[in-house]
Amino acid sequence: MKSKRISLVLPPILVLLLASPAISQTPKLPNVVVLATGGTIAGAAATDVQAGYTSGQVGVDQLLAAVPQAKKLANLRGEQISNIGSQDMNDEVWLKLARRINELTAMPDVAGVVITHGTDTIEETAYFLNLVVKSRKPVVLTAAMRPSTALSADGPLNFYNAVAVAANKDAAGRGVLVVINDWIHGASSLTKTSTTAVQTFMSPLRGLIGTVAYGDAEWYRGPVGKNTVDSEFSLDGVTTLPRVDIVMAYENVDGALIDAAVAAGAKGVVIAGVGNGNMTKAALDALAAQAKKGIVCVRSSRVTTGNVGRNVEVDDDKLGLVASLDLNPQKSRVLLRLALTRTKDPKQIQRYFVEY
Ligand code: ASP
Repeated sequence: MKSKRISLVLPPILVLLLASPAISQTPKLPNVVVLATGGTIAGAAATDVQAGYTSGQVGVDQLLAAVPQAKKLANLRGEQISNIGSQDMNDEVWLKLARRINELTAMPDVAGVVITHGTDTIEETAYFLNLVVKSRKPVVLTAAMRPSTALSADGPLNFYNAVAVAANKDAAGRGVLVVINDWIHGASSLTKTSTTAVQTFMSPLRGLIGTVAYGDAEWYRGPVGKNTVDSEFSLDGVTTLPRVDIVMAYENVDGALIDAAVAAGAKGVVIAGVGNGNMTKAALDALAAQAKKGIVCVRSSRVTTGNVGRNVEVDDDKLGLVASLDLNPQKSRVLLRLALTRTKDPKQIQRYFVEY
């Protein structure tokens, strides 16, 4: 009978490699999934030196192919969720994106997720995901201010850095992150501050979560506010989100737009107030009247930085209003929409603004 033992004859070069202690084996790369939604990072222009361009022209496969260096950081595969300018971001895409991230991050072999997005509403999407994604794994949004065809496009390095952060174990448990222009922002803190500058995103009150230079991350802090696995918000059973509108305060503003928002179906109104969430007496009277009818009314501020505190110049306790604290109007709207899936009680909703 023939022996079943297989004699392994290794070629000399392999023997040498295995015997050499100086040569280590390449560690297995983590699996990162890229979900593309569109934006300038996928935008294209007719020439490389013009301001005009169209968002969402390049598909996810082209995006991946444009940054081959990222394949050394992680095993990448892409999915196209949408291909829109983020000025067109909508609930349908949000729900699809959040659900897909929850599916992917539940898979044991997925280490992290990168989402490519437009810069216009990235702070809203990031904060929404921060509240409804149920995973501690890295979920990282990235974007670009210059289209992919531009001279000195910023997208490729932003994408490379986002993949590096998504593949980095130290990114876990810091909430949903936004990586752009070498900075790592928390979803609740970042805001767009320039219409056109590459250095547009700032985290004014809370500061950066970290920085990342050619894939090398440095960490400064953890997340502020409940997020992801600690968030009590969930999309289970949610098919639509309640309407919440933002009304800006300004010199001589009256209550017409507040009433119009409610007439259009808003269940909540956020005021982008002047200063510390202030507005004219006429607007405040209209707001308080709506609050009395059960519309949840939040005072935020059109000022880029600073807190909107309770009962400072406005008696929130008496009028039944909610103060946004350090959430800007667009993020207050996101939190209020999710809050309204659970309660209409302004006191409980104020607690959400304290905790999230
Ligand atoms: N309008 C573009 C968008 O938000 C701007 C950008 O991505 O930079 O999709």
